Amino acid sequence: MDSIRNIKYLEEIARTLEPQKPARKHLWEAVIRYGENFLDKLGSLKTYREDKEKGKPLLDEEFEEKPQDIGHILKMIEKYVNTPGLNPASGGHLGYIPGGGIYPAALGDYLAAVTNRYAGVFFAGPGAVRIENKLIHWMRDLVGFPDTTLGHIASGGSIANLTGIVCARDAFELKGKDFERVVVYVTQQVHHSVDKALRISGLGEAVKRFIPMDNAFRMDASCLRDQIAKDRKAGLKPWLVVAAAGTTDTGAVDPLDELGEITRKEDLWLHVDGAYGAFFMLCEQGKKALKGIEKADSLVMDPHKGLFLPYGSGVILVRNGGYLQRSHYYLAHYMQDAKDYDEEVSPAEISPELSKHFRGLRIWFPLKVFGLNPFRAALEEKICLARYFYETIRLWDHAEVGPFPELSVVLFRFLPPDRPADQFNKDLIDAVKKDGRVFLSSTQINGHFYLRLAVLSFRTHLNTIDLTLSILKESIYRLKSTR
Ligand SMILES: *Cc1c(COP(=O)(O)O)cnc(C)c1O
Repeated sequence: MDSIRNIKYLEEIARTLEPQKPARKHLWEAVIRYGENFLDKLGSLKTYREDKEKGKPLLDEEFEEKPQDIGHILKMIEKYVNTPGLNPASGGHLGYIPGGGIYPAALGDYLAAVTNRYAGVFFAGPGAVRIENKLIHWMRDLVGFPDTTLGHIASGGSIANLTGIVCARDAFELKGKDFERVVVYVTQQVHHSVDKALRISGLGEAVKRFIPMDNAFRMDASCLRDQIAKDRKAGLKPWLVVAAAGTTDTGAVDPLDELGEITRKEDLWLHVDGAYGAFFMLCEQGKKALKGIEKADSLVMDPHKGLFLPYGSGVILVRNGGYLQRSHYYLAHYMQDAKDYDEEVSPAEISPELSKHFRGLRIWFPLKVFGLNPFRAALEEKICLARYFYETIRLWDHAEVGPFPELSVVLFRFLPPDRPADQFNKDLIDAVKKDGRVFLSSTQINGHFYLRLAVLSFRTHLNTIDLTLSILKESIYRLKSTR
């Protein structure tokens, strides 16, 4: 009977993991208060904050056997997580590709976590799987893919790119002996996650061709055609073209229509990386810029970029869904119960994941709560804001701008007559960082230092762009007068 006593003793402690109503209320209220306060203050918080400690006490404080006070816990989050560094929730985030974090997505996550429905296998979570599949159908129709499309909601664009490339590898039945002979066609503007994906999928040794670009950083289709012919002649095996529907550096859209024609004629796989840009299909100007996207064999689109979701959602669509299945299909004995139902494709059958986060709910819930219209308007607004910034800044003294923004990224720099440009632009971006109200990032183009403005936060509006212009103006003035 000692053992029963022991079980009961353990049970009493274990039951702490199921707080009762008053305890739940206590936690919930404290967390909601914190969240509300964060949102109330967000407009006045800096977008970027230098901080010596950089959250170091998070490493120094040990986990204890005893519970800690929720007030203390939230203080740690506030002070060490939500203060130092870049604040991606801020509308002033105009660097890299901004994220977002629309509020109902957090509530969708809350519901997904509280109910913990399993979205991996249809028989276990039919509703959860249908929500994910419905989202895939919606995205499929949005980009004009056919009914044969299958897709998966992954954790981000990098994993989605990896999944697409693995699928392309298996669709062409590439084996180890082929890896050194296959050719991948990209431009210098390709996102580094594609390179990573090639290496992870065993294709690090594939021949990589950097196809020249036009003066707006778009792949030159006729150069691609020539290179494919040359490679065939040399006995190589042209395989994959990776095109961008919005590059990270400049927002350039490769000529998808033409590339689609070429890859079909030449029997190559066209993978389109639309992690940044593909959701611009929701607005008219975006649709124009993305013409031909429907010709891709596989496409990546990131809801945590173009749908303003919090980090953690990227989608892969594969035109001929059978290929996605072929790369990820499995049959384990302990999964035999799951096999009797095939009314819906299960995410676990077409992706590397099994026990997965029910990511669909954080996407589906906001689309229902807000409707599509505000998403369309926000995306069109971002394009207009980028163009407004571009048209304004290009008239400034000594300004040099990159290509007209097809989407929402503007490339620019200043060429002061009396000092080296790279240093001046570096100093300028440091000054913007130090000010902290907005955040811009920089890049290297043909060996020169350029600034970028990337508009994609749902919280970025005209006042943010005007503020950015005035911070730049003040900083330039100050830099010029300190020498
Ligand atoms: C952001 C981005 C990626 C990577 O996506 P993650 O969601 O950050 O993993 C890939 N390609 C492009 C063009 C991107 O902008």
